Amino acid sequence: MKYYSLNRKAPNTSFADAVVRGLAPDKGLYFPESITPLDTSFFETIEDKSNAEIAFEAIKQFIVPEIPEVVLRTIVEETLNFDFPVVNINKNISTLELFHGPTMAFKDVGARFMARCLGYFNTDNTNEVTVLVATSGDTGGAVANGFLGVKGVNVVILYPSGKVSDIQEKQLTTLGQNITALEVDGVFDDCQDMVKSAFMDKELTSKMQLTSANSINIARWLPQLFYYLFAYKQLKSKHKDIAFSIPSGNFGNICAGMVAQKLGLPVQQFIAANNANDTVVSYMNTECYEPKRSVQTISNAMDVGNPSNFIRIQELHDNNFKTLKANLSSFSYSDDETKAALLELYKVHNYIADPHGAVGYLGAKAYLQNNDAHVVFVETAHPTKFLDVVEDVIETTVALPPQIEAVMDKEKLAIAIESYEELKRFLLQ
Ligand SMILES: *Cc1c(COP(=O)(O)O)cnc(C)c1O
Repeated sequence: MKYYSLNRKAPNTSFADAVVRGLAPDKGLYFPESITPLDTSFFETIEDKSNAEIAFEAIKQFIVPEIPEVVLRTIVEETLNFDFPVVNINKNISTLELFHGPTMAFKDVGARFMARCLGYFNTDNTNEVTVLVATSGDTGGAVANGFLGVKGVNVVILYPSGKVSDIQEKQLTTLGQNITALEVDGVFDDCQDMVKSAFMDKELTSKMQLTSANSINIARWLPQLFYYLFAYKQLKSKHKDIAFSIPSGNFGNICAGMVAQKLGLPVQQFIAANNANDTVVSYMNTECYEPKRSVQTISNAMDVGNPSNFIRIQELHDNNFKTLKANLSSFSYSDDETKAALLELYKVHNYIADPHGAVGYLGAKAYLQNNDAHVVFVETAHPTKFLDVVEDVIETTVALPPQIEAVMDKEKLAIAIESYEELKRFLLQ
């Protein structure tokens, strides 16, 4: 499979090259040249298959033979060694829990998959890469954990000092080995700016291969399509018309769901559930795309004013607004509405959600006002990752799961930096 740049000013390239580069040379996002639907028998017998089999069959066309089948099978098995349960909320609503991985964030799957692909490309020790990421919290932990111990891959994570939760900081700073945490005296945007400067620094990029590990990278983005197949496997005998409500920030997760739909997965509708960062909701109402500055909310992993994967969503719908409008509903919610939803889920349905899942639940309810379907809202993080908000709203303490408990006593190891020069010196040493 070849990948092309959505800016269409860079040569088509291989999976390996697209993964190692992250972005195409013309700064466009990579996109697969074709998406071939799976055999109908795949969906007819899906409940008889293991998650690893489903995932392997679904992603094979994008990666084999560049990564041989046997290796890809192992990568998929190792990536998916935890559960993806669908939990019933009421007659018309369920939730797909994507937080049972090592850092309890849905980004675990993409990070683990991408790490193993890079590890394979470096099997002969000639393709050492440095993964550079800025994090406002969740991405860093998932990437650190996913890449831990992968040969030939060094991971450098920049996080804003004092601006991430204790749990998140521990997940970033206690691993050691090939993972280094840089504690930046500044805010998330400063971390992000330093990373951007590094990617544009010719002196640096001539000496080392730098790549990113956010959802612009196809190896982190594509494996997210598995989730929707796993949900279908669990629900298909019970419900016919399934819709997905997905709390969205950079729109990578929802876009991967749409790839699953292209593979033949029956999906009645995708619902983008947003917080106050409503660039896409506005676009769907006006057909006029205007990126905005992000505003801070309690569902902060979705505080994105210019979602980078939206261009992939448009491409999947032939850049046709009507086609997109028929497949995508979108809603936006304030923090107060989100808190009320958290409380309702707890009091009425006895379910403890996190703020992102709560936004997804609101999207599901809104869609059901005018449509008949079974809506699955996606729970993207375990509630303890947003402990302050959740405990405050439901007025109950939430027990820490073992994955989180395990890191809390470990010693923090981070290098404090204040400027881009310090980052550069660190990378070159
Ligand atoms: C990253 C993240 C999101 C948003 O996912 P996108 O793919 O960027 O839309 C939602 N919830 C949580 C908890 C996240 O970490």
